[in-house]
Amino acid sequence: RKLGVALVGLGKYSTDQLAPALQETQRCKLVGIVTGSPDKAEEWKRKYNIPEKNVYSYQNFDSIKDNPAIDIVYVVLPNSMHAEYTIRAAKAGKHVICEKPMAVSVKECEDMIQACKSADRLLSIGYRLHFEPYNLTMTEFAAKKTHGAVKVITAKDGMDIEPGVWRLDKKLAGGGPLMDVGIYCVQGALYTVGKNPIAVTAKEGPKTDMKRFSQVEQSLTWKLEFPGGIVANCECSYAEEMNLLRADAEHGWFELKPAYGYKDLKGETNLGKLNIAQVNQQALQMDDFANCVLQKKKSKVPGEMGLRDVRILTAIYEAARTGKRVELTNL
Ligand code: NAD
Repeated sequence: RKLGVALVGLGKYSTDQLAPALQETQRCKLVGIVTGSPDKAEEWKRKYNIPEKNVYSYQNFDSIKDNPAIDIVYVVLPNSMHAEYTIRAAKAGKHVICEKPMAVSVKECEDMIQACKSADRLLSIGYRLHFEPYNLTMTEFAAKKTHGAVKVITAKDGMDIEPGVWRLDKKLAGGGPLMDVGIYCVQGALYTVGKNPIAVTAKEGPKTDMKRFSQVEQSLTWKLEFPGGIVANCECSYAEEMNLLRADAEHGWFELKPAYGYKDLKGETNLGKLNIAQVNQQALQMDDFANCVLQKKKSKVPGEMGLRDVRILTAIYEAARTGKRVELTNL
């Protein structure tokens, strides 16, 4: 049987990406929803043939423990709600996929990992690009030294955000573009280099729109230092579109532009364009997790990776706040 997935939070990502991807998955399928909106529940029940018994509100969510049709709970809520719903899902005996960023503090990430461990449930983070062939090619080129040893990574991710959304609310988002899109630059740098960074320096950009960015940063630049003198120069913004992952190596370069989207990624090297088939990243990501559950093996994007990244994001904010180089000793 295909494992049953329940989506928690029926916002844009669930609606436009995850639910459609769950129509293409081989090892799991959409069987349940958790929503605060009765109207959405009706619409989803009709559209995806979801039985009433698999529809939960945030209030009665814990009774999901009595529902054997649901194996995996996928948390797709604002960032500050990830920890609570992941922990409640684990306590209800469900395996959990939690969206990025894993949570808004290191302590929350640790508690989530502990809760899943205690309940003997698997935990993974929605890092879809680990299943995307262009991004996997960055890892492969660097590891095989196709263009010589990598020296410098450049990673940029940004968008021009609409005003008034939860992503601009510090309490719900935990921070600004760094938490939301900058995390892709951190991820891209780390999976390309294939090592953890050892230190970071950072600087917050100027605010040109005080109204939109009253609570969170508008933009941020930071530099990750890796063993062997490799550096990653990164930038994120909520006021400007940018999307790049590039590696400069001894004998050439390779890059993705755009690098982090759901589709239509493009890759190029100093030798020419890359031509790789596009995939449904979310379908591959969820099927891989279903396989992990079926085979009782750890995901390649586990809670520990989410924790590592939240440690790095926290250090980047500290470096920006203090103006000091922050060492990353505990990754
Ligand atoms: P969204 O605003 O479209 O949806 C958020 C959902 O949470 C809505 O259904 C909303 O009703 C619900 N919600 C419950 N309590 C809420 C509250 N107090 N305030 C606001 N909303 C509340 O957001 P989204 O774009 O779907 O993002 C959800 C999560 O998914 C975020 O953590 C985000 O980082 C992540 N995400 C990941 C990717 C990816 O590519 N992996 C892409 C988009 C979003």
